Amino acid sequence: MTTETFEFQVEARQLLQLMIHSVYSNKDVFLRELVSNASDALDKLRLEKLRDDALDADVSDLHIEIDVDREARTLTVRDNGIGMSYDEVGQLIGTIAKSGTASLLKELREAQDAAGAEGLIGQFGVGFYSGFMVADEVTLVTRRAGESQGTRWSSRGEATYTLERVDDAPQGTSVTLHLKPADPDNQLHDYTSEWKIREIVKRYSDFITWPIRMVPAAGEKDETPEPETLNSMKALWARSREEVSDDEYHELYKHISHDWREPLETIRLQAEGTFEYQSLLFIPAHAPHDLFTRDFKRGVQLYVKRVFIMDDCEALLPPYLRFVKGVVDAQDLSLNVSREILQQDRHIRMMQRRLTKKVLSTVKEIMAKDADRYATLWREFGTVLKEGLVTDSDNRDALLAVASFTTTHGDEPTTLARYVERMKDGQEDIYYLTGESRQSIENSPHMEAFRAKGIEVLLLTDAVDEVWVDAVGEYEGKKLRSVAKGEIDLDAEGAEQAGEEREKQAEEYSGLLGWMREQLDEEIKEVRLSTRLTVSPACVVSDAHDLTPALENMYRAMGQ
Ligand code: ADP
Ligand code: MG
Repeated sequence: MTTETFEFQVEARQLLQLMIHSVYSNKDVFLRELVSNASDALDKLRLEKLRDDALDADVSDLHIEIDVDREARTLTVRDNGIGMSYDEVGQLIGTIAKSGTASLLKELREAQDAAGAEGLIGQFGVGFYSGFMVADEVTLVTRRAGESQGTRWSSRGEATYTLERVDDAPQGTSVTLHLKPADPDNQLHDYTSEWKIREIVKRYSDFITWPIRMVPAAGEKDETPEPETLNSMKALWARSREEVSDDEYHELYKHISHDWREPLETIRLQAEGTFEYQSLLFIPAHAPHDLFTRDFKRGVQLYVKRVFIMDDCEALLPPYLRFVKGVVDAQDLSLNVSREILQQDRHIRMMQRRLTKKVLSTVKEIMAKDADRYATLWREFGTVLKEGLVTDSDNRDALLAVASFTTTHGDEPTTLARYVERMKDGQEDIYYLTGESRQSIENSPHMEAFRAKGIEVLLLTDAVDEVWVDAVGEYEGKKLRSVAKGEIDLDAEGAEQAGEEREKQAEEYSGLLGWMREQLDEEIKEVRLSTRLTVSPACVVSDAHDLTPALENMYRAMGQ
């Protein structure tokens, strides 16, 4: 058979270099990554067989196997799962499809020190490539379930890899690492040590629902020992809270989210009764790069009675909670359930409501208990959560209660409740101004009178802000009013005196106003004297019901 040589995609090559020169100090995690991929491959095969009984695949003993060869200094992780076709190997292993790769690599190059680089690589997770932290050569042999021919992939982690078709590959995938010499000073342990492998599997992969087996080296009597299952395979969400350590929860989080960092919060919910389910949800500590892209995936996984059914089950949580990761395991659904059925299922809708409330009440608790963690949460996910103010009127109050905004008062974001506490005597409304950035808003002429009178204004800079302020309209009976829209009378008490003065001024300036009206006739609705300015001579104001400039732009861009 011919061997073909290919070049890695540029991003892939750069990441490989980082792995080889190992910016990541904890090298043990390579095994977690390989086991995680093997487990995904077994999940996928079981599912495909469930959907297509005719698939020519053996699902009788799905498992993961770890083999070490002390002489050859190799370690092999093998699964009999879905496998990959020749083309898939090239696509999946030769390139990095994740969005945000380019910007991450740029940041990495600019990172000043190893700790900074490690933090960055940790946000990304390098999966399969992490094998190159401990190996100077990696070989992968795979055969897709249902196909007859297999593929061998091999690379030394430099610029190229080779692909070759093979005839005798078993179903599934085996990844063989040709281990670098151990170097404990650099956290490079002896990964041919059975003890070490047991320890790593126990620590990182105990909850994997497939058996992870290892055949121990032959003992004194020289008989072939029985394979040993290294993991307990217990689903963490089905175990009681006291039985499971935070570390175990965090490892599950890393497995399902492909994030290398700890989550910000773990949320458990066990529902009993007619529709029973268990769920374990996580709020990540960092927003992923692609949270706002159309193809953002990887939300909550659905299991039915411990059997993995689907990734990214959009029916379980509303879109504005798409950053929440986790598992929901339902007892009374069919294993064949489809996305379409889930969307219409009454129980699933109830479940979504319950999970949503649970997540929001957790956010509220974090806010009450731990200001720093709340600040992180809002910084990372506030923009997404605000989408809920528009789309989820049932939970609007809960969302308003946990939302915070930058205002003219201090540098820290503040809640609406705090804003209301600080409102001036006689102030009836909550004022805001939307714009591109805090600075551009603060420089707006609309702000002058508010600044002069010391009235606090919310400074809203996200695109979604334009929409939710309209949708929500008021908070605790106080209207949300844009300082750029309609007539604003900041001086209700001095109104009478001001009224007289204004009349006088109107007379004085009537000639000028009339001339301006004529000149600008096509562009504007009217010209009037204003009390809102203190320094600037003039500003453009929208009608109370007009679109703001940013929204006008947005609708125009959408061709409306
Ligand atoms: P991730 O797991 O985050 O997708 P990886 O780098 O770990 O990224 O793996 C890349 C892809 O290669 C996987 O998404 C999967 O499609 C494929 N892959 C890796 N290992 C296996 C395996 N053991 N069996 C089948 N496919 C695999
Ligand atoms: Mg992976």
